[in-house]
Amino acid sequence: MYYEFLAKEFGISRRITSLGKEAEASLDFGEVKRVSGINQLRVLKAFGDCGMSDFRLSPSTGYGYGDVGRDTLEQIFAAAFGCEGALVRHNIVSGTHAIATALFGLLRPGDVLLSASGRPYDTLLPVIGAKRGDGSLRDFGVSYREVPLVSGRPDEAGVLAALEKDSRVKVCLIQRSKGYDWRESLGAGEISALYRKIKALRPDVWVLVDNCYGEFVEDSEPLADVLVGSLIKNPGGGVAKSGGYIAGAAECLSRIEGRLTAPGLGRECGASLGHTRDMALGFFLSPHVVGQAVKAAMLCAAVFEGLGFLTLPRADAPRRDIVQAVRLGSAEKVVEFCRGVQAGSPVDANAAPEPWDMPGYAEKVVMASGAFVQGSSIEMSADGPIRPPFAVYFQGSLTFEAARAGIMLAAERVSRLL
Ligand SMILES: *Cc1c(COP(=O)(O)O)cnc(C)c1O
Repeated sequence: MYYEFLAKEFGISRRITSLGKEAEASLDFGEVKRVSGINQLRVLKAFGDCGMSDFRLSPSTGYGYGDVGRDTLEQIFAAAFGCEGALVRHNIVSGTHAIATALFGLLRPGDVLLSASGRPYDTLLPVIGAKRGDGSLRDFGVSYREVPLVSGRPDEAGVLAALEKDSRVKVCLIQRSKGYDWRESLGAGEISALYRKIKALRPDVWVLVDNCYGEFVEDSEPLADVLVGSLIKNPGGGVAKSGGYIAGAAECLSRIEGRLTAPGLGRECGASLGHTRDMALGFFLSPHVVGQAVKAAMLCAAVFEGLGFLTLPRADAPRRDIVQAVRLGSAEKVVEFCRGVQAGSPVDANAAPEPWDMPGYAEKVVMASGAFVQGSSIEMSADGPIRPPFAVYFQGSLTFEAARAGIMLAAERVSRLL
């Protein structure tokens, strides 16, 4: 029925709609249902336990002293993620900003940052630092080392050896989602196991997990001293208009809050300006919306496997984040894929994405984002760096029902190049 409508109203060829129909029929959404069911109840319970109230959703202004709604929402994030505390702010401008704030809060001159998951996400490279005078960690005397992944997994022995050898390592970074790499994302259980090993050897090292795209995809979040993410991805539920969160151990948050605002001010100030309601509603909806996005990712994989492309993860493989990678093999196909996704979006459906020099990325990147919140990638979106192996990264969708259109349009456009 849906696929007939797509053929008639969206101009998708019969070949592609029957591929879509078959692909969808082959999928088993049982695990998605189980995970969003558990996470939804966990979040609901956090709201009740922390005492969210109608009054607390109201705005504060100025310094924002005594903003109990802001404080309550931070307690809710902490409770849902199993952490001692959290900072949840609309004026954390992105995931990169949240991670940078945490790193600058934790690290001091002479310290070493160690990445346990190989090369970090593109936008973190300028934070770590390339040249003098850029205000990066390096500029402040913090050095950086990384232990490369081995066959796409953290090299546990290598990480422990690096920690044993260098007592200056203060923070160990683990990235859950693959970013623009062609590898499996790390599972929450796998990260938690590595966390335990690191802490057993070096209790003085803080483990920071870049949790972007991973929230609520599994039935628990990874163990970490600090968990960081963006509110225009999973935990904003498509409702938060901007923001980020930093959740974790009290001793870490007390260092980070001085960097978030100013030493001495910390988390006590920061007017919510009316964003608390959006952030709270988005967090409440997030387990469900993430389930929709995971279903969309699975359909995307099944359809492009049907067209003969390599996908990561495979349609029926366990999900660790909301990102679906498809190896398209040429820049032209990456652009056409993104144009299809754009055309199936509710906003700017008539725009044609072009590769551009996006700040923080080394190569040109093409992005499809027809979202209600600019650049939101819990909403349906697709992007790919214009570099081999010319993989495109598809993620999000507030509803699975709408994702059918974007995926079919992308498949239609790519199939015309075959
Ligand atoms: C999205 C993302 C980030 C942060 O990106 P922003 O665009 O700054 O929000 C960091 N790490 C990973 C793995 C990501 O997916």
